Amino acid sequence: MNESALPLSPRVAVILLAGGRGARAGFARPKQLELLGGRTVLAWSLDAFAAYPRISRGVLVGDGDVMAAAAPLPDGWISAEPGPERQQSVANALAMLADWEDGAIVLVHDAARPGVGPEVIDRLLDALGNADAAIPTLPVPDTLVEQAGGVAGDVAARDRLARVQTPQAFRLGALRRAHAGASGASATDDAQLVRQTGVAVATVAGDARLHKLTYAEDMAMLAGLLGTGTMMRTAVGMGYDVHRLVEGKPLWIGGIEIEHSHGLEGHSDADVALHALTDAILGALGDGDIGDHFPPGDPQWRGAASHRFLAFAGNRVAANGGRIGHLDLTIIAEEPRIGPHRVAIRERIAEILAIPVGRVSVKATTTERLGFTGRREGISAQAVATVQLPEN
Ligand code: MG
Repeated sequence: MNESALPLSPRVAVILLAGGRGARAGFARPKQLELLGGRTVLAWSLDAFAAYPRISRGVLVGDGDVMAAAAPLPDGWISAEPGPERQQSVANALAMLADWEDGAIVLVHDAARPGVGPEVIDRLLDALGNADAAIPTLPVPDTLVEQAGGVAGDVAARDRLARVQTPQAFRLGALRRAHAGASGASATDDAQLVRQTGVAVATVAGDARLHKLTYAEDMAMLAGLLGTGTMMRTAVGMGYDVHRLVEGKPLWIGGIEIEHSHGLEGHSDADVALHALTDAILGALGDGDIGDHFPPGDPQWRGAASHRFLAFAGNRVAANGGRIGHLDLTIIAEEPRIGPHRVAIRERIAEILAIPVGRVSVKATTTERLGFTGRREGISAQAVATVQLPEN
């Protein structure tokens, strides 16, 4: 049948791909089942397509966990098994549409893009009035360069490039022919396969809200883009550290240098207070400890200023979409006296982490001449960090 001779309002189906395992994202479960504003990432696009009036058939591609999370499926939706590669997953879904005519329209969407809205679907369906394939694209705001071996090369012609999103829209016949000849192909989207069969692919304006969930930090970005009013949870972490006092070394405590006959010994500058704080923040994030991120055997950290470690931990909080609620630090030393430096330490820690000084507490104590600190053999520090993190 000649596709262009079909009625003006062909049927519309959607293939929703939720078969990926999200290995890159570092999540505990497949990323499409992570929670975003109280719903799974998958539910965002499933609900959006189910609410779009012209879509009369949906095919959800996913494993048993995905189907359990999506149950019950909306009216008109059926399931399909994922394949080992994306292409086979789409082919499995196309098989479920075997009774549909070639002139029908099918949208293909990755469930890792939760921000589907009716506007972009409208634009895609409009574009199929004059084309057999259409994709949403966004301009590239950054300068793009080739890169090899840590050296920047030529600048790419940015005005000729675009970022490709999903959903992508096709005449069913065009997508069928592309997949019939593409068994096992490793194309990252369907438009590439369709284009390889000689079909022109139209572009329409994409949508920033279609940002793809790839890395853990994308959750915070999506929460902002989708205005979810993310639920936050409070996490508490503790840190403890000890360093030995030796004669004739500079003494760094809490990010400041203190005049003293002895200094702390260690691979870095041995700032015992900043190390305890760093571990407390990493503890709240469940993100290992300072030694995991800055191995003591690594020569690049020899003599390193410990404010770098603390700033790193603070950046990890931000990357997780969180914020530091409060830090409480106790420095345990017989001498020197910490009291006169408490204000400076407090201000320095707030400065390193770019947080208000009111969120930082610094206390000091001796151990009444008992134990290794009492014998002035070393200085220890304890810290507790309270961190607010998105609930997911
Ligand atoms: Mg240490």
